[in-house]
Amino acid sequence: MSESVPDRSVWERVATILRRSVPRQQFETWFRGMALVTLTPDRAELTVPNNFLREWILRKYFGVLRKALREVSSGDPEVEIRIGEDGAAPVEGVAAEAPAPRAPSPRPPAPVAYGESDVILNAQYTFDNFIPGPSNNFPYAAALAVADSPGKSYNPLFLHGSVGLGKTHLLQAICHRLMERRPDMRILYLSCETFTNHFVTAVANGELDGFRFRYRHVDVLLIDDIHFLASRERTQEEFFHTFNTLYNANKQIILSSDSNPAEIPTIEERLVSRFKWGVVAKIDQPVYETRVAIIARKARVHGATFPDEVVKFLAENIRSNIREIEGAVNKVAGMAHIYQRPIDIDLAREALRDLLPPPSSRVSVDGIVRTVADHFGVPVKDLMGKRRSKSIAHPRQICMFLARRLTSHSLEEIGGYFGGRDHTTVMYAYDKIRREAEDNQELAETIEKLKVKVTS
Ligand code: ADP
Ligand code: MG
Repeated sequence: MSESVPDRSVWERVATILRRSVPRQQFETWFRGMALVTLTPDRAELTVPNNFLREWILRKYFGVLRKALREVSSGDPEVEIRIGEDGAAPVEGVAAEAPAPRAPSPRPPAPVAYGESDVILNAQYTFDNFIPGPSNNFPYAAALAVADSPGKSYNPLFLHGSVGLGKTHLLQAICHRLMERRPDMRILYLSCETFTNHFVTAVANGELDGFRFRYRHVDVLLIDDIHFLASRERTQEEFFHTFNTLYNANKQIILSSDSNPAEIPTIEERLVSRFKWGVVAKIDQPVYETRVAIIARKARVHGATFPDEVVKFLAENIRSNIREIEGAVNKVAGMAHIYQRPIDIDLAREALRDLLPPPSSRVSVDGIVRTVADHFGVPVKDLMGKRRSKSIAHPRQICMFLARRLTSHSLEEIGGYFGGRDHTTVMYAYDKIRREAEDNQELAETIEKLKVKVTS
């Protein structure tokens, strides 16, 4: 050790101040292994036995530590906390477990991945629990690639999509995987709001050094909902520098946002362009098949198997948001449990009552048939009759589709209306039209037009 190593009494003075500001138990836990290597009015160098302690101290106690060092050094030293390796030993008297070894302690595999105090990783948000599909394949694959080789594949990874489509899930899945496979890495996952709050607090308390040290010494930085940087000029500025430092050091940056970089309002151009340096991946609304898969999976989580009809009903009626899909599944399962009822289409309808626009009482199957007949120029009685020619069968299927979507009649009732057809015929017609409309823009538009006519 060099001659700059301060007398042990210097550390004792620092420790005494710390003990005044930190509960005893905490002090023993966090500071007992700390050693002071250098202390001058300009510079303080300390060591701790492992990364975990270092992160924790930086996160929770940097302010008090810095104050104590200022007081003892009569200056404003720049503080550096290293992992004790080059012979810097914990100072006795501070360590609860004396004697402390003087030999370099092997660098422990430090469990350094951590969420912020206000973010606890959701154990369910793993890759295993994420259902890929055409709407999210690319962001999913990109997230996997980044988790497997952070800093090497896509940097930054920018995920965007509207609310409830799985951004947070993917970000946390990356954290889970890294924590599992790369325990050596320092991972920092937090919301943009937390970043902003930390920054504001650091500015107010004159602790920018600590702030910067923390954010610029990570291997992977994930910030969720980065669009909240909009109109926060100083935080943007700070984030810009954080970004550059990490990026230049080949550290992985992962961001999520509710819109693509160019569309975040009032965000600086230089940030927009950086966000686009790596990969920008959009999560779209899930397609029908993905919704079905998600519903079936979430039902299983409740230990329930929903009948096909119920799964389809939910998938047809809740389209835009996976969080809402989950809510609906929970509600159906919850109602079945509470009322001891079988999970069937009636229960599903009841469960969704608040989520769905009420089926308009003005919409009648009659009205639907007349509107469709008029549009296609076919006689009403043919639509309701038995003829199977394509020119009739197709409009008839559209009628059934609309009847199912816009009225609260059961499949049987609708079948009955169309010449006593079986409920499976109605189901088939419904599925067929729905699928066709997904691929066929013209049909989709026709249906929209008919809907408007029928409901107005
Ligand atoms: P966002 O952050 O985009 O608003 P979240 O990540 O919070 O959305 O996702 C909302 C809910 O939907 C979460 O419970 C999440 O687990 C679930 N979810 C989203 N996408 C999927 C998916 N592809 N597979 C399974 N669950 C998903
Ligand atoms: Mg989110």
